[in-house]
Amino acid sequence: MNTQDIIAAVEAVQAAILANEQQIESLDRAIGDGDHFINVRRGCEAIAALKPELAPLPPSQAFNRIGMKLLSTIGGASGPLIASFFLSMGKELEGLTEPDAKSFAQALAAGVEAIKSRGKADLGEKTMLDVLIPAARLLVRLADEGSDLDTLCSRLKHEAELNMLATRDMIATKGRAHFLGERALGHIDPGAKTSQVALFAVCDMLTIGAAS
Ligand code: ADP
Ligand code: MG
Repeated sequence: MNTQDIIAAVEAVQAAILANEQQIESLDRAIGDGDHFINVRRGCEAIAALKPELAPLPPSQAFNRIGMKLLSTIGGASGPLIASFFLSMGKELEGLTEPDAKSFAQALAAGVEAIKSRGKADLGEKTMLDVLIPAARLLVRLADEGSDLDTLCSRLKHEAELNMLATRDMIATKGRAHFLGERALGHIDPGAKTSQVALFAVCDMLTIGAAS
C-alpha cells in the first residue's frame, strides 16, 4: 500500500459513507444525538481536500497529516478517536514507503489500540471498537499467514458485518448511548456501522476496484 492507494481508499470510504447516509444518520438519531453522519462526512471532505498535499508524502506522513486535520475538523466523541487512529498508524509506518500487508496490518492494529486507550473502551461496549478490534486481530493473523488479498478481504468483510450486527444486542457502556441503558437494545451502534461501511469500501477498492 502506497500513498496513492491510501488516497484511493479515502475516496472509496467517502463515497460509501455518502451512500449510507440515511442509515448512519437514523442510527445516531435513535441512540445518540444525530450528528454522527455529519461528523464523518465532514472528516471525509477534509481529507479529500488534502489530496494534493498528501500525494507526494510517504504513507506515515500522509496518515499523520490526515490525523492532524481530523483533530481540527471533526467534532463529537468520534473526532479525536478517529484522529488518534490515523496518527498512530502514521507513527507505526515511519520509514516505510510501500508497507506490505504485514506492516499495514500492524499499523492498523496500533491505530485501533490508540482508539481503545483514548476512548478508555474495549470490546462489548457498543462502539466502533466492536467492529475494529476483531477486524484488526483477524487482519494481523491473516497477513502473518500470508493469506491472499481476496481471501483476506472476504473474511474481513464477513467478520465486520457480523460484529456490526452484534452491537444491536448490546447495552452501551460508553458514549452517549450509555445514558439510554436498555433502550439502546435493538439499535446498531452508528460508529460500528460507519466502521463496517469503511472496511467494506477499502476491501472492495482493493479487490473489485483493482480488477476492473
Ligand atoms: P457524539 O457521540 O459525541 O455525538 P458521534 O456521533 O460522531 O459523536 O460518534 C458516536 C460514536 O462514537 C458511537 O456510535 C460510538 O461508536 C463511538 N464512541 C463513543 N464513545 C466512544 C468511546 N469511548 N470509545 C470508542 N468509541 C466511542
Ligand atoms: Mg452523535
